[in-house]
Amino acid sequence: MTNREVIALTEKHVANTYGRFPVAIVRGQGRRVWDADGRAYLDFTSGLAVCNLGHCHPNVVAAIKAQAEKLIHISNLYHIETQSELARLLTENSFADKAFFCNSGAEANEAAIKLARKYFSNKGEGRFQVITMEKSFHGRTLAALAATGQKKFQAGFEPLLEKFTYVPFNDVPALKAAVNGQTAAVMIEPIQGEGGVNVPSDEYLKGVKEVCKKAGALLIYDEVQVGMGRTGTLFAYENYNVAPDIMTLAKGLAGGVAIGAMLATDEVAAAFTPGSHASTFGGNPLATAAGIAAIKTMLGENVLDNCRKSGGYLFRKLEELKSKYHFIKEVRGKGLIIGMELAEGIKGGDIVKECLGKGLLINCVGDKTLRFIPALTVTTEEIDEMLGTLEGVLAGVK
Ligand SMILES: *Cc1c(COP(=O)(O)O)cnc(C)c1O
Repeated sequence: MTNREVIALTEKHVANTYGRFPVAIVRGQGRRVWDADGRAYLDFTSGLAVCNLGHCHPNVVAAIKAQAEKLIHISNLYHIETQSELARLLTENSFADKAFFCNSGAEANEAAIKLARKYFSNKGEGRFQVITMEKSFHGRTLAALAATGQKKFQAGFEPLLEKFTYVPFNDVPALKAAVNGQTAAVMIEPIQGEGGVNVPSDEYLKGVKEVCKKAGALLIYDEVQVGMGRTGTLFAYENYNVAPDIMTLAKGLAGGVAIGAMLATDEVAAAFTPGSHASTFGGNPLATAAGIAAIKTMLGENVLDNCRKSGGYLFRKLEELKSKYHFIKEVRGKGLIIGMELAEGIKGGDIVKECLGKGLLINCVGDKTLRFIPALTVTTEEIDEMLGTLEGVLAGVK
């Protein structure tokens, strides 16, 4: 099929929930993808922080092929070898002791919210409130939507699940004022992704943890977007040295295959017992085999090191553009999640469209922040190529 044919088919048969660009991507390799008409693009979106190892990484492809020939699915009525092995890799490399697997970020957050409630219910404590941040994003299912501190995602789906309260991000006093004896958990993205790549002060998470401790509330990190190497460490919280009680993962966890995970300490995880929570596909052999290959590649092949180096280089280069173009307000980020905020009145969406026309995929969050989330394996040459295209577009902005 051609781009035009795929687009016609989508418009006729697929629910109209996405504002899509008019191309159909049919193939990917490393940091490049190709559309149905054979045109190549340099990809700085990585399937939205999913393909952290690049498209079709050979280790992930080999693991999927081998597992597909052995066992694609079996239910959680039985033990699953790849699931227990992926849980071992995740817990041995994090604060956590136990992992629960599901299939997406929203589901991982649902599991985290349910675990926090169950933990206090088992203790006989009437704690139901979950505090989340303004400009946060936690997913589109109803509990995750209630947790998401952005009205635009919630509009039309009310009444929302009760007992969610929002406070400004990077503001410890505001959080302190909001917690009370009914607070079960504070849920937070260590760096906000969809909300505009918002990086907190170095001391912020320490302050959050202290507030939680004092209030007897659990701390949940949503690392669905910034986990799995994105910030230059396996998990973003390592940058701040403050461990949570619960953490959620998804996007980059299995090299492109759908997966979600909720990690927790033994003490908290023990609130779930057989029958408490479940997922038919959660932790299935295919997804967890891909996850094992992805995490082993990330830890074994210099990927994190490249992320830090390439991230530092990209950040410096974007800062240079900022000093050149007055309409660039701020560059912020960590590792290879970097946002470039544009001045009021500059249409980020138009810049993204023009880049697409020139063979470059980037995206825009919160209307005015260009987001750069290339694969963590991106090279200096590819960053230079991206910058060349981007500057060509920026130079024409009026
Ligand atoms: C993408 C994202 C989610 C939702 O993940 P889905 O897999 O789309 O359900 C949740 N939290 C954060 C921080 C995200 O970036």
